[in-house]
Amino acid sequence: MLKNQPISRIPLLDLDRQYQGIRDEILAAIERVCSLQQFVLGPEVEAFEGELAAYLGAGYAVGCASGTDALWLSLAAAGVKSGERVITTPFSFFASASSIVRAGAEPIFVDIDPHTLNLDPQKVRTALENPGQGERAKIKALLPVHLYGQCADMTAFERIASEYGLLLIEDAAQAVGAKWGAKNAGSIGIAAAFSFYPTKNLSAYGDAGIVTTNDPKIALDLRRLRNHGSPERYLHTEFGWNARMDAMQAAVLRVKLRRIDRWTASRRQHAETYNLLLKSAGLFERVLQPLQTSPHAFHVFHQYVIRSQRRDELRAFLKSREIATEVYYPIPLHLQPVFSYLGYKEGDLPEAERASKEVLALPMFPELTQEEIKRVVDTIAEFYR
Ligand SMILES: *Cc1c(COP(=O)(O)O)cnc(C)c1O
Repeated sequence: MLKNQPISRIPLLDLDRQYQGIRDEILAAIERVCSLQQFVLGPEVEAFEGELAAYLGAGYAVGCASGTDALWLSLAAAGVKSGERVITTPFSFFASASSIVRAGAEPIFVDIDPHTLNLDPQKVRTALENPGQGERAKIKALLPVHLYGQCADMTAFERIASEYGLLLIEDAAQAVGAKWGAKNAGSIGIAAAFSFYPTKNLSAYGDAGIVTTNDPKIALDLRRLRNHGSPERYLHTEFGWNARMDAMQAAVLRVKLRRIDRWTASRRQHAETYNLLLKSAGLFERVLQPLQTSPHAFHVFHQYVIRSQRRDELRAFLKSREIATEVYYPIPLHLQPVFSYLGYKEGDLPEAERASKEVLALPMFPELTQEEIKRVVDTIAEFYR
């Protein structure tokens, strides 16, 4: 009988399991917004901004309509201007680079560290020491991304930013609760952008994002920029955008923020279990090499990612066994058609290109069970047998 029982699907992310545990509080929060009838900005958004800033140890938080808005507005508010250039990673979600363009500037892509898959500070230094003709003066900012929930090497980037007089802005879209040493992601650079898109580790029930900063002027500028450059109603002093946070999302996020540390602890435990089981199945060389978590990083495992030289075959095999996986990201940004005007070609950033062919994100969410993790690892082991 058991033999014919269909195996259940293991999803990459199961938000319904999370919802079942917080349903009453979520519905009460939504009811509160409906009763108040204030749907954009207002008291829920202000309360969430205060709670998130306190949680991260940042001076200010400014709620935005999405992580993308948070990112380009933080670049603009920090002072990145038209014609300037910003150094970032080619191995990230598209918005890390498109937000630079949206702020009027141009991205410079520098290769990643193959161990952490984050922007490599040594290569950033090399790029700064050998800029193109007249380029050095135009380079205004560094935009490292805390990929998969692990901070980029912020000690090195703080040092580089101060040596070269550059603004340091964090793309912390995947890293609520992550730390570098004693510092929280989002409290290190001059500004940081977070995303609360539903798949992120702290997620809303729609689009939302936020900027954190310790600089009161940047916070004030952001409040104007997210609201059509309007310091007071119907007075416009510059061109901002409609990038305001929705109150319903803030209300949902307040419920979830109270649980984020518990959820992060579960993610970290699952990552540990994956690591142990993969190693004991003899798969270290095949899927964990050369990945590393930096000893300075408190990794929140927004994603748990392995590397395989037979990635696409492995992925198809897992799919045939009802195990969902994803590739973040299959095309490095310097090779995206829309960035062809920058003149990069295949082979320019070999580590990012190799990673895009090898990485595979396995199921990861707080409510994932030990049995599910074991089945994922057993199935990977079966593939390699
Ligand atoms: C999700 C994400 C963004 C954009 O956030 P949205 O809320 O989807 O606009 C930016 N950068 C990174 C690294 C992301 O993962």
